[in-house]
Amino acid sequence: MIEILTPVELQRARRTGALVGDILHELSGRARVGTNLLEIDAWAREMILEAGATSCYVDYAPSFGRGPFGHYICTAVNDAVLHGLPHDYVLADGDLLTLDLAVVLDGIAADAAVSFVVGDSPQPESDALIDSTRRALAAGIAAAGPGARLGDLSAAIGDVLSADGYPINVEFGGHGIGSTMHQDPHVANTGRAGRGYKLRPGLLLALEPWIMADTDRLVTDPDGWTLRSATGSRTAHTEHTIAITETGAEIMTLPAHLRA
Ligand code: MG
Repeated sequence: MIEILTPVELQRARRTGALVGDILHELSGRARVGTNLLEIDAWAREMILEAGATSCYVDYAPSFGRGPFGHYICTAVNDAVLHGLPHDYVLADGDLLTLDLAVVLDGIAADAAVSFVVGDSPQPESDALIDSTRRALAAGIAAAGPGARLGDLSAAIGDVLSADGYPINVEFGGHGIGSTMHQDPHVANTGRAGRGYKLRPGLLLALEPWIMADTDRLVTDPDGWTLRSATGSRTAHTEHTIAITETGAEIMTLPAHLRA
């Protein structure tokens, strides 16, 4: 089912999105060399509860996981890219960290992810991966608006990733979002323009380009959750929740310093 939000619900979605953006921004600042992934999870828990929100992950138990997830944020390091289960690991200089956060506030969910390098040793390969997912996300958002088709967004995202030379996995991608975190439609990170569902004002979508440097194959950790690059190569993931408006698309998960 595809949910179309009312103006009142969209206003709530703005608040949820702002919360997700602000928490991710704060955690990105706190995560440094010596930080344990479990500390990041504890900080996320504290901020979510303080805001009166609910984590979408704690009780998340899809068919593929060894659920429930039991943590408040996904933390993925280096070759880990999706569903990274927080565990007892201390961040080292040069690690590439991805934080993915989804919460519900006042009945509306928002979902966003950021990748960044910890410490200050130069990591050009990681910087290039991260930059590619950011530009792909920007292209997907630029293609979004009333009347655009899902395939337009997928094609815009995939064109950037492909032009940068990265393989694209089509098992996991973006998704509709609203009263729950994962809804129809699926938004593949590659596709054909002009195809698929026609976007309407009030639709919320989580767009999330993610890549692995030299493969499109994932392997699952023994923890049953964390998905890694099959080759051990580095990975990156950038995600925003957007709303289709009457005139275009609005990014809901910007942190405070980037909000109008
Ligand atoms: Mg998502």
